[in-house]
Amino acid sequence: PVLQDAACSTETDPKQEISAADAALAEGRLWRPRRVFITPDAYALPHGRAMLERAENFGAEVIRLKQNRLTGLSGEDERKAYALAKTSLAIVVSPPSARKLQPIPPSADWQFHLAQGCPAHCQYCYLAGSLSGPPITRVYANLDEILENLRGYAGTGKVTSTSAERAHEGTTFEASCYTDPLGIEHLTGGLQQTVRFFGQWDAPVQLRFTTKFAAVGPLLGLEHRRRTRVRFSLNAASVSRDFEGGTATVAQRIRALRRMALAGYPVGLTVAPIMPVEGWQTEYSTLFADVGAALDGVDAVDLTVELITHRFTAGSREVLLGWYPKTTLDLEKENRSEKRNKFGGFKYVYPRDRMSEMRSWFDEAVVRFLPYARTLYWT
Ligand code: SF4
Repeated sequence: PVLQDAACSTETDPKQEISAADAALAEGRLWRPRRVFITPDAYALPHGRAMLERAENFGAEVIRLKQNRLTGLSGEDERKAYALAKTSLAIVVSPPSARKLQPIPPSADWQFHLAQGCPAHCQYCYLAGSLSGPPITRVYANLDEILENLRGYAGTGKVTSTSAERAHEGTTFEASCYTDPLGIEHLTGGLQQTVRFFGQWDAPVQLRFTTKFAAVGPLLGLEHRRRTRVRFSLNAASVSRDFEGGTATVAQRIRALRRMALAGYPVGLTVAPIMPVEGWQTEYSTLFADVGAALDGVDAVDLTVELITHRFTAGSREVLLGWYPKTTLDLEKENRSEKRNKFGGFKYVYPRDRMSEMRSWFDEAVVRFLPYARTLYWT
């Protein structure tokens, strides 16, 4: 059935402590693209047509392309192209090069992609500078092929072999490098299929994704066999308020974290991007205290924490300033230290003293507020 509303898919379950009506409020508004493009190759696949039907049911105008290349996305200027892309969904087949997986330390052994692009409007967006062209959300119709391709990678990867702490997780596969898969799940259904695939996979493997959305209802009843770790991307209240648009609120994400933990999923926090805004210690203390309160009473919670400070490159800075010319985000190179990346370019990170100060504070705060959590890394 086509999912019409976050509430439709959620039975009232006393264990979840939430009714279907509450779920609709708790899960936030679902993105409704104004138009959906589909290529001929994507239309030939059942998953492509199913996503098209979902998008149409959410009110999108259908545009069937005559060729497999995406066209018709350029606006008169960068702002218009941005607006057009962010209100559009494209259903395509992923390029053959995507079948050769790339590592993604320190998050996971391998990255793979269900989609590319995201409908939200974060002024620090990680995708700026790493994807080319207007930021349209492309979803992949060849999901079966994408998942089957993962099988060859079980038992491989460096994150597990070099990290005793994480060895029990098996080979880890990250699905949110280029998208927020939960933010588009009501249109794709792909995350549900992926969670089931990992649940049934007869090898030590883990699916990982991170999200700033909260519509977890369709995931709660799946046979996940604890093979999927969902991490909620959280931040200080003022950072979320000032720089995140079109996402679920932090309170909704924390509520979703509780619901997923109650449903037996391993969970996590991706605290990112950490910024030393005025009063940051107080704001991040409140965040951790809220998470602690939300997980209160959840049995055997398996919680990890990833701590990622704000950084940018010259390329991402330029793209972000084009998308959000009035942003108050600190993108001044003078306030940062240069850190060479493996491609020979530079990332701009906080200066060393600032980093050490923040790192010690966060290490101590996680232990204080969430003593049962495992911190995976700080960067
Ligand atoms: Fe970018 Fe993530 Fe925000 Fe989407 S949710 S706009 S991918 S930072």
